[in-house]
Amino acid sequence: MSVTLSGISHVVVAGAHCDDIAIGCGATLLALRAANPELVVSAFILTGGGTPREAEERAAVEAFAPGAAVTVGDLPDARTPAYWLAAKESLATFKKSLAMPADLVLGPHADDAHQDHRLLAELLVTEFRAQPLWGYEILKYESDLPRVDTYVPVSAEIAHTKSALIEAHYPSQNGHPWFDEEAFLALLRVRGAQCNTRYAEGFVVAKTVIVIGDMS
Ligand SMILES: [Zn+2]
Repeated sequence: MSVTLSGISHVVVAGAHCDDIAIGCGATLLALRAANPELVVSAFILTGGGTPREAEERAAVEAFAPGAAVTVGDLPDARTPAYWLAAKESLATFKKSLAMPADLVLGPHADDAHQDHRLLAELLVTEFRAQPLWGYEILKYESDLPRVDTYVPVSAEIAHTKSALIEAHYPSQNGHPWFDEEAFLALLRVRGAQCNTRYAEGFVVAKTVIVIGDMS
């Protein structure tokens, strides 16, 4: 059983680190843009500002969603729980800066093994209370892939484009043994198998509100 998503004109994508958005929801972002070239995309990243990673991220987001607005914070990588207030205020300021409300928010899921991912997941729930909030998964060294409950099937072209763009845009991460096109494509294939298609991204969605018919 599947449902069709429509009426999405503004998407917020959020990541704790430069590369999280591309890894977690790059294919969904490409699919949303393919379905609606006018889609407005606003990206928020908690860390990496002022470092070489910021330039990588800005170029990558531009490749995934040309014209997207990108905000890169400068909290210290791997230490963000110690900067809870600064993180909260940074996200709140970003939300206030949005020209229009988001229709969909994509960010890390709450049970991710990385403390920075968990912190951002916790804050996103408090800042974006009226929007659907989907938690993406981040492939990495830890064995913390979640039991996803929501799938977004994508074309083979989008799956390959996502994997290739990630490997091309983040040279600073190439030293990680899991950071390559094959690994990213493999997870897309696994999630595709789980929803009876070839490639898909998976999400953890804590709350879903279904509106049937005209509620006005
Ligand atoms: Zn990360």
